[in-house]
Amino acid sequence: MKHLSILGSTGSIGTQTLEVVREHPEELCVTALAAGRNKDRLREQIIEFKPRLASLDDPEAARELQEEFKDSPVEILCGKDGLMAAAGIDEADIVVTAVVGMMGISPTMEAIKKGKDIALANKETLVTAGHLIIPMAKEYGVRILPVDSEHSAIFQCLRGNRHEDIDKLLITASGGPFRGKTREDLEKVTLQDALKHPNWAMGQKITIDSSTMVNKGLEVMEAHWLFSVDYDRIQVVVQPQSIIHSMVQFVDGAVLAQLGTPDMKVPIEYALFYPERRSLAGGRLDFAALKSIHFEEPDPDTFRGLGLALEAGRTGGSMPTVFNAANERAVALFLKEKIRYTDIVRIIGECMDRHQLIPDPGLEQILETEQWVYRTIEGMDI
Ligand code: NDP
Repeated sequence: MKHLSILGSTGSIGTQTLEVVREHPEELCVTALAAGRNKDRLREQIIEFKPRLASLDDPEAARELQEEFKDSPVEILCGKDGLMAAAGIDEADIVVTAVVGMMGISPTMEAIKKGKDIALANKETLVTAGHLIIPMAKEYGVRILPVDSEHSAIFQCLRGNRHEDIDKLLITASGGPFRGKTREDLEKVTLQDALKHPNWAMGQKITIDSSTMVNKGLEVMEAHWLFSVDYDRIQVVVQPQSIIHSMVQFVDGAVLAQLGTPDMKVPIEYALFYPERRSLAGGRLDFAALKSIHFEEPDPDTFRGLGLALEAGRTGGSMPTVFNAANERAVALFLKEKIRYTDIVRIIGECMDRHQLIPDPGLEQILETEQWVYRTIEGMDI
């Protein structure tokens, strides 16, 4: 029996992870759940999956749950302490990091220090602190198992192959809802337009990130750290149907790809059972019906966020943190309809321009840089 701790259990990845657990009750069980504010969903999850520990960020909601579950063995905690306790809980074999944003860094480090394997969905952690997390995982002998579908695809293609035989990684992108649009077209985009992803149903932040292709930029940085491949050998390819989840080209010119219907439960289940596979109900590709798969180059003029991400990644040091934190804050403002869609990438670019680079930041400097970004955005005339 594998014991799971799920950070971000009420979100899109968290709930799909629990669907996978539900499919395999004889092999997977839940030891800890951590969430932000969604008390009702967490209550249902506690009743169904009976974790030893559950945590909500919101202290008031957590107190209400403590009262409701006072006669049950589940321990209910709150805030950052609760999240850290869920990350480091003794019984867990594997920690699923499905919180959104840079808040994932500290609990991921905590889980690694406690020797837990990480099923990593929270890409922002590797983007901003990959230079700390990857060596730490090596030091503590834990595995970082990718949950992001593109990285899971690459991980699957690399099995049985040597690292030195990789020529390049080909990360596929659907192109999002604004593929084929011009920069001028984006001026008119509303929140509702941006929240409509053509192929994947995801949390709000990543849905906006996919529409700007900032998500693809974050994925390139994530791949750089996960697979130790330099930026010049990572290429983004638009494949609008989201059937090829990513590919690896090897030095002899052979290309391996991983294909499937767009279903996040596939990479989630793969991470949880790695190196084995389990059956999974769901759609299967019908190649006769499919007939063709299209490819395009990403449009650098419309999707300036992708170019900025690559620039941040190549610059390294604290720049990916600036890119990521500026995006997180700008997307949050856009979701509250405080800024226009095109302001997101403009804000990221301005923060990167104003930043004084820190070449090899430690955790504290990363978190200080994040705060610097927030203050910088507050001071902007937007
Ligand atoms: P969601 O917004 O759907 O979920 C985020 C989760 O984090 C929720 O459970 C939320 O709780 C929880 N949370 C928020 N604040 C806190 C906090 N302070 N303490 C503890 N938990 C908190 O996001 P997604 O599931 O879409 O994405 C999660 C991560 O996975 C992101 O990094 C994303 O980039 C990545 N990812 C997502 C994919 C997808 O298909 N969704 C695909 C690949 C990667 P609550 O709802 O209770 O407030």
